[in-house]
Amino acid sequence: MKETEGFEISAHRAPSEIHAKVQGCIFTNNEFEKLQEGKLAVDIEGTKHQISEPIGEGECKHLYFPFMIGISEPSHSKKELKELLEENEKFNNLGDNFKDYIEKEDSDSEDEVELGG
Ligand SMILES: [Zn+2]
Repeated sequence: MKETEGFEISAHRAPSEIHAKVQGCIFTNNEFEKLQEGKLAVDIEGTKHQISEPIGEGECKHLYFPFMIGISEPSHSKKELKELLEENEKFNNLGDNFKDYIEKEDSDSEDEVELGG
């Protein structure tokens, strides 16, 4: 298996807590397989991930798509992913008010990232 072949996970606003840290990350095929099996997996940045719910199953709105490591351009910059993660941490503190928060934020920006999952 070529190490240049892998998968990128999509990223969206208000992900489930389980997927908040893994969204937008890129994995080699081998590591992605481990991730989906609930095993410890390492992304191409060297960050370790372990999730209890596979990407793309159940209520999850995440997608994954083929990514050529070192060739393809990531869909999201590190800055964007960091902002999504920080926003998600705010949601956890806001509880039931988080949807109001998103609507308010959306009226201020042209962010096209979808909710849920
Ligand atoms: Zn998800």
